[in-house]
Formats: sequence, C-alpha cells, structure tokens
Amino acid sequence: MRFKLKILYHYLSLILKRKFTSREMLHAFQVKQMKLYQKRVLPKSTFYKQYEKLKISNWREIPLISKTEFMAAFDKINTCNIKLKEALELAIQSEQIRDFKSEINGITVGLSTGTSGKRGIFLVSENERAKWVALVMQRVIKVNPFKRQKVAFFLRANSNLYSSVNSALFEFKYFDIFKSKLDLLVELDSFQPDILASQPSYLIEISKAQLNKQIQISPTQIISFAEVLDDADKKFIQQTFQIKLDEVYQCTEGFLGCTCKFGNMHLNEDLVYVEKEWIDDTRFYPIITDFSRNSQPILRYKLNDILEVKNEPCACGSPFICINKIIGREDDVLDFNGIKIYPDLLSRKISLHTDNFIRYTIVQSSVSHLNIGIECPIDDFAFSCESFEACISSYFTSLGINQYTLSFKNQIELIEGQKLRKIKRLNYEN
Ligand SMILES: [Zn+2]
Repeated sequence: MRFKLKILYHYLSLILKRKFTSREMLHAFQVKQMKLYQKRVLPKSTFYKQYEKLKISNWREIPLISKTEFMAAFDKINTCNIKLKEALELAIQSEQIRDFKSEINGITVGLSTGTSGKRGIFLVSENERAKWVALVMQRVIKVNPFKRQKVAFFLRANSNLYSSVNSALFEFKYFDIFKSKLDLLVELDSFQPDILASQPSYLIEISKAQLNKQIQISPTQIISFAEVLDDADKKFIQQTFQIKLDEVYQCTEGFLGCTCKFGNMHLNEDLVYVEKEWIDDTRFYPIITDFSRNSQPILRYKLNDILEVKNEPCACGSPFICINKIIGREDDVLDFNGIKIYPDLLSRKISLHTDNFIRYTIVQSSVSHLNIGIECPIDDFAFSCESFEACISSYFTSLGINQYTLSFKNQIELIEGQKLRKIKRLNYEN
C-alpha cells in the first residue's frame, strides 16, 4: 500500500504543481530543482561530490559523460553503495532465469543493452519507480475511470519497474519478446488489450497478424517505445488499427519524452535539463541532467541519439522542447570518409524510389561497403536490387561519394529479441 500511496502522491503533484506557460518559468523551476538536487543527492555520490557547491550558471564545468565512462565509474557514481560487478551478476542471472525481482538493498537492478549493444545497468529505487509509474499514467496512458484498462507491454526483459503498475485502474501484462512470435500472438489475442505498448518492430508484426486475421484485437491506444520510428512504419500501424500512435522516448537513462495530444514529441524538461550539442541548424545531440534520479545520478550525460528540433511552437501550449523526430543513434549514421549519411534521409530517398520490398536493412560493414538485406518474394529480388542500387547511386553521387561497393541478400538482418535497426554502421576496423 505504501507504494501505491507514493504513486498517488507523485501523480497528484504532477497534476497540481506543474503548469508551465513559458520557457522563463520552466527555466526558473529547473534552476530551483538543480539546486535542491545538488544539496540532496550530490554529497552521496563520490564521483560528483565535488560539484555540490558549484553555481548553477557554471554547470558546464561538470565534465560530459558518455555511457562507457558512466559504466566505468558506476561504483563511484551511484549513491546506494552498489558495485557494478554484483549488480551485473544479479541482472544477468535474473534475465537468464527470467525472474525479475532483482534487488540489492531495496534498489531494483535492471540490465539494458540499448541500441549500441553494450551492456548497461540501471538502478531504480522504490520512490523512483513510483514516480515513473505516476509519470506514465499522467503523460502516456489514457486512464479510463469507468473501465479497468488492460495493458499489454512487449519487452525484452521485465523488471520490477514495469510490473508495478497493477492497480484498480490497470491490469498489466508483460509479453516476453524472447518467446516465439506465434505464442505471443496467441497470448495477445486472448488477453484482448485496451492498451498496447511495444517497440515498433513488434508493432509491425502485430499489425501484420491483425491484417491477415491471425489475431483480432481492438486496442484504444497504441504506444511505441524505444526504437526510432520510421514514418512508413508509423503509417502502417496507424492504418491497421485506425488510431493515432503515441510515442514514448524512453531509454536506460530515463523517461525523456512523449507525444502530446497533437502528436508532437516533447522532452520532459520538468524532470530533465537538456543541453544541446548542435550538429547543424536543427539537429543536436542531447546532453541531459536528470534531477529526478537519486540512486544513479545522471549529470551532463551525452546521449547517442540525434534529435531534430521543431521550431514552431506546439498548439498544445507546452513550452517543453518539441522534437520533430528522433533521427537515430550516432552509430546509425553512415560515414564515408567524413561524409555523413543520416538514416532518415536515406530511408526517405529509398521510399520515394521504390517500395518493392517487405522490409530491408542496410549495414555499413567497412569504410566503403554496404550490406543490403531485402525481404521480398524471390522473383522480385533482382528488380529490387536494381532499384536500391539506382537510388543509392544517385543519392551518393549527389553527395560526392564515388568509392563504395554494395552486396545484396534476400533476407534482412534481424536478430530475435534485439531492437531492429533499419540502417546502421558496425564498429569496423579501418
Ligand atoms: Zn504539444
């Protein structure tokens, strides 16, 4: 009961306190939150202790940190006296036996691979869990006071973080994406969710099954989590279920944003202070300071994602940064001797040129080579290859890229249980 009261407390405080009408008001709030955070949390972190008296205006003196450095300094950063070695052992063990009650000193330990494929550990206290649940309820899930909502949640791994939402308002069911696709579909069909939340690659599988009448579900809300959502995929899912898709921008580092009722993605700037490292006029790498996380402080943490900002204010009136789209991770950007190719631009070119495929993947495996996988009927394969080749050739020539080779396969590179990325660059040796 204590946990539910905490959720209620956070839920009410979200509803009652936070109405921001301008950037100035938001900024003043952020400064106040950061000062509190400095005082309450930083003294408990060996790594960040030295910044407890830093003036907020000098925030940039705190060194940038990336995932690799963050994991390397894990023992010193976290405030719960948890060692990376024991956390990792526990998280791997829980994932192997698929029992997700992994806790150390009352702190939930979760394992994430993220899109980079590198292991990350996240720590969440009970209070942070309650906050997360409150936030999801307030910002994402449509609460129906007259009907208990059945929520189907597709995940690579469960954790206490997600299974804690069962209440009078929700029935929460977790679908383990390591199970066979057929089993999952049967289970989903019998569950009949009101709300469906999943990675886009699974939403597509579910949409296909719905289209060919393998399943018959009628969710009133569909939430896309985690991966970059392609425009074509979004349209396909929305058309299949005849509803607008809600998107959540959530990663190990936190719950960073979600779409508003106008379908625009806003960053949760009342929880996270966002600095922008600009790439050009509209694209940037976010550097985040999350003043809602106590067990594992996130300070000036540079994310691997590239965000494209929307400059026009949103009709919903929120002053939070509005994102046109999450373009992709840094390692999704192809690189030919310094000439960068952004995945969304390349996939747009391809969609304009051909749609003679079911799905495809493009993987840069060396400085000048692309492996292209095209899922399509074998009879169409030769024609599809020609179309891809023509499209890539004209696009690359326009960018001044002449030295490259392509190879084609009649299947895509999909690893079960992994997040699907359409376009990516491998960590190859030069
Ligand atoms: Zn909005």
